[in-house]
Amino acid sequence: VREANRRTSRQAATTRDGRAIEVAANIATIDDARTALDNGADAVGLLRTELLFIHRESAPNADEHRQSYQSIVDALQGRAAIIRTLDVGADKEVPYLTLPPETNPALGLRGIRLAQVRPDLLDDQLRGLIAVQPYGSVRILLPMVTDAVELVRVRKRIDELARGLGRIDPIEVGVMIEVPSAALLADQLARHADFLSIGTNDLTQYTLAMDRCQADLAAQADGLHPAVLRLIDQTTKGAAKHGKWVGVCGALAGDPVAVPLLVGLGVTELSVDPVAVPGIKARVRTLDYQLCRQRASDLLALDSAQAVRAASREIWAID
Ligand code: PEP
Ligand code: MG
Repeated sequence: VREANRRTSRQAATTRDGRAIEVAANIATIDDARTALDNGADAVGLLRTELLFIHRESAPNADEHRQSYQSIVDALQGRAAIIRTLDVGADKEVPYLTLPPETNPALGLRGIRLAQVRPDLLDDQLRGLIAVQPYGSVRILLPMVTDAVELVRVRKRIDELARGLGRIDPIEVGVMIEVPSAALLADQLARHADFLSIGTNDLTQYTLAMDRCQADLAAQADGLHPAVLRLIDQTTKGAAKHGKWVGVCGALAGDPVAVPLLVGLGVTELSVDPVAVPGIKARVRTLDYQLCRQRASDLLALDSAQAVRAASREIWAID
């Protein structure tokens, strides 16, 4: 089966009733980019840039940023890349950032908030991103956004820097939906963003107040919890009001039991581990979008992740 999936993986994935679902890859390195291509990924849905900052003595300058992204974009041979700005906080070891210690790093100065104290880091990264050729091959994704004010502030800065570099067309900017406030305000965010990308790892952690790294909570910290699903539903509805698309780049996108539900809730892009692309495309091709829609709304009424999992397995005959 795996070999057959790989063979058909280069073609786009559509449901049986013709809804196109982009299946993209989450990557961090140029090797990952090659693996994504080999496995038929339609695009890169999330390039995590933290690796670029760690194991160094100082932060990369704008040109070092540009070079890293350019080499990955070149390796992708024309496929688009969604590149996320730095998402470290005091919990990740980046000694040269010398951030003040935090008692609760998960709720601290992380993601886009870091720019409040170190705007230079974000500026250099944005300059590097804007300089990648051809213009438009890169979309910028902002982590840990909590409301539209934050988004608008960064978006203005991106436009300023782009103009400074002689780029006239606006660059596409998306927002991670990974804290409950962002999901609740998705309609406001979608007004100012080009797309939304749901980070189910953090969205689950912050919705359920369960540390994503806590091994003995792993089974309970399930993105199929009805509370998380309702936030996903609210996100796709908010985006639809402004005609924007929604992807999922958290681990839930690569979970075969979750895929029919995410598609049913209106998600049109799934960004997964590169090697998972063929299997997820194969699953999408077995689905009927209209049926997914109906069933997804039924499953939002269930009272636990376990119940949602069991029902999904039964409806879509997944073992
Ligand atoms: C997420 O939070 O779901 C996500 C995709 O981002 P990361 O795992 O890098 O926090
Ligand atoms: Mg996250």
